[in-house]
Amino acid sequence: MDKIKIKDLEVFANHGVFPEENVLGQKFVISVTMYTDTRKAGKSDDLTQSIHYGEVSHFIKKFMETHTFKLIETVAEKLVAELLKTFPLMQKLDLEIKKPWAPVGLPLDTVSVEISRGWHTAYLGVGSSLGDKKGYLDGAVEALKATDGCEVIAVADYIATEPYGGAAKEEFLNSCIGVKTLLTPHELLERLHEIEQAADRKRLVHWGDRTLDLDILLYDDLVMESEDLTIPHREMHLRSFVLEPLSQIAPYKNHPVLHKTVMQLRSELEND
Ligand code: AMP
Repeated sequence: MDKIKIKDLEVFANHGVFPEENVLGQKFVISVTMYTDTRKAGKSDDLTQSIHYGEVSHFIKKFMETHTFKLIETVAEKLVAELLKTFPLMQKLDLEIKKPWAPVGLPLDTVSVEISRGWHTAYLGVGSSLGDKKGYLDGAVEALKATDGCEVIAVADYIATEPYGGAAKEEFLNSCIGVKTLLTPHELLERLHEIEQAADRKRLVHWGDRTLDLDILLYDDLVMESEDLTIPHREMHLRSFVLEPLSQIAPYKNHPVLHKTVMQLRSELEND
């Protein structure tokens, strides 16, 4: 991917673990590499098609000066998130914060923290089989829109489906949601649990049927397995109530384990 870089921007600010640092302030030196597609701007010679590095530099200076954190790890984490949310053409960012005057009591050049963060694309399955099913699905979409570091990019049509998995007796309403997110897979799962719990609190009649069920189906091309999270979702390729809405919003998305598109998985399942 193309890059735009800012190297060694000097800012005077008050971050540090020692109280003196928060009062007296010190110099910070910041470098960023912004990953973006410069093709359009390169062809049109139009600044509005690119990331304005002057605006980014001033944004960084202002952020550094108007916040006070103990750790440069925190400064870096929060600053990167704000930059990615504010400048939509930035897809990924490497940011280094150097502290040349770090109060270590020993001669050193600089201490620094460097992190890389970026937007990820995740596809979620959503279902409801109790109460105001459409209301619960709408509520999930709204809750995701309101989540810091999440942007809803697509919502498939809601479809009515047969109960699934034995214990459930009621007809389900299902859909899939595409999100752009700065959250890690586990942070996203935690957020989905919060949204489920907020919906479940209103009504929980019996096991099996639920007000709201949210699953992570895909997260970029990530393949992972941990005690509480498997991506891609273990059963997504076996469920027509997942593949039907997913093929509406991401038909050519590749399943990173089965190496087939969503559309192929759907037609294979239908032909079985
Ligand atoms: P259920 O509510 O029946 O869908 O099960 C949810 C549990 O499955 C959660 O507590 C997760 O820890 C676990 N799980 C494993 N992989 C996933 C995934 N890809 N998306 C959502 N939950 C998952």
